[in-house]
Amino acid sequence: MDFQVSARKWRPQKFSELIGQEHIVRTLSNAIELDRVSHAFLFSGTRGVGKTTTARILARVLNCEKGPTIEPCGTCSLCMEITQGNCIDVQEIDGASNNGVAEVRDLIDNVQYATSSARYKVYIIDEVHMLSKSAFNALLKTLEEPPSRVIFIFATTELIKIPETILSRCQCFEFKPLSNAQITKQLELICGQEEIEIDAKGLVEISKVGAGSMRDAQSLLDQVIAYSGKKIDTDSVESVLGIVGGTTLELFAERLIKREPAELITLVQEVANQGKDLGLFCRSMMEYLRNLLMVKVSRNPENLLNTHTCDLSVLKKQAEGFHADELQQMFTILSRAEAEMKRSSLGQMVFEMAILRLTETRSFKSIDDLIHKINQAEPEAQPARPAMPTPVAPVPQSDSSATSAKSASPAAQPENGSFDNMIWTRIRQEVSRKRPAFEHYLDKCQVLALNDKEIQLMFSDSFTLEMVESPENIKFIKEMVKTASGHEVQVILKLGEAKPTPSLNIPEKKNLNEDRQGRQKTESEIIQDALDIFGGTVVK
Ligand SMILES: [Zn+2]
Repeated sequence: MDFQVSARKWRPQKFSELIGQEHIVRTLSNAIELDRVSHAFLFSGTRGVGKTTTARILARVLNCEKGPTIEPCGTCSLCMEITQGNCIDVQEIDGASNNGVAEVRDLIDNVQYATSSARYKVYIIDEVHMLSKSAFNALLKTLEEPPSRVIFIFATTELIKIPETILSRCQCFEFKPLSNAQITKQLELICGQEEIEIDAKGLVEISKVGAGSMRDAQSLLDQVIAYSGKKIDTDSVESVLGIVGGTTLELFAERLIKREPAELITLVQEVANQGKDLGLFCRSMMEYLRNLLMVKVSRNPENLLNTHTCDLSVLKKQAEGFHADELQQMFTILSRAEAEMKRSSLGQMVFEMAILRLTETRSFKSIDDLIHKINQAEPEAQPARPAMPTPVAPVPQSDSSATSAKSASPAAQPENGSFDNMIWTRIRQEVSRKRPAFEHYLDKCQVLALNDKEIQLMFSDSFTLEMVESPENIKFIKEMVKTASGHEVQVILKLGEAKPTPSLNIPEKKNLNEDRQGRQKTESEIIQDALDIFGGTVVK
């Protein structure tokens, strides 16, 4: 097969062929038509979105023998030379390897000479953010007083590294990442022209991995063609790109519904053993959960599903196995894991831990239930101390009996570390004064250590632990300990078989809450309690 890399072969040659950068094309076209072309441009944006391509088109637009014209002919000698990279008046410079002051001085010397055949001398400097500070300074004077008929086009993926003095002397354009639909459409066109058979699902998969970069998507397509030839099925797309297919995702969701941690981990290991990318798997899983949620919240989810990789009837059936809020919790867990996997050298382990946490998500009770519970629990809880009051929320729907069984357990002494019960009681009093709803968490934990260095709390369920370990709550605990004991301590939270540690009797608390007794809570108090528990904000 006489094969040319798609990205090069299908590089747009005129503005009208550029995809996804209409705002830039329009401004540049207007400037050409009004003969008001800037002498310096800065193109910024992620890789593979058309910066250098636009620079080359602009060079042809300005220099075409029939121009300047926004539709360069493509056949005159200058158009051809520029396309082939042989035009002496249009120079492409790689900023990464020519980043010193000496190279920039050479360039500036060269700038002074007249053009040989073209109308404009065009200098395209790619990766311009790589220039050294002194190189930028050397360039500055030329940018301030450019010789006529000299145009600089700078391209960069890192706008933030460009000095303000340069920015202020350039016309700046930000290139947008391309949408999956734009990439898919272009790949479809290429495959049509090249007589390559591939189904829509395969094309969508390639676009998604391309993540906004047309060039990346096209080289992925090349890889798939190199592997499969002219007939491509989705399986080969998935195996070349290391994507986890729809069937695996379905199986994954199935095991998630059944809460089968061991089976889920096995599946992750199988996927990893097949050499697939777990980061991509994590992203696909997030998309799958999102689709399940769309199916749950919409009567006509077809238009909301952003993928061809899953079967609607399967989605509908599986969606019944989840509560909407569980899906949201799971999405959050995966989204955190995905970010963490990028930073960690132990990506698989990070992912596995996240998977285990998925199986521990619980549905929240409805807000009506919650308000009812708060109304009921608060007055009854007083005389019951130091035994645990009924947890307010979130309450696991399945095993609430287990929680109440634990609450009956006798007062436990800490297993290790030093422990000061007086201080603990003072902490409880402070918490009760500052954030009554937070007591609910402390009722559930066992104090393993409490001294002038640290406070160690153990919780039986990871959900509560997760709620408590937010930076805000940790800060709150530290403040409370500081107020009660005068010590700045470390807060250590653990997961284990916690036997809740009661505090000594709290007479103050009773007085404090007396005014609340004997009347229903007001709506704003209930909302405040809910906010304290969940740490959220009121949206409307
Ligand atoms: Zn031409």
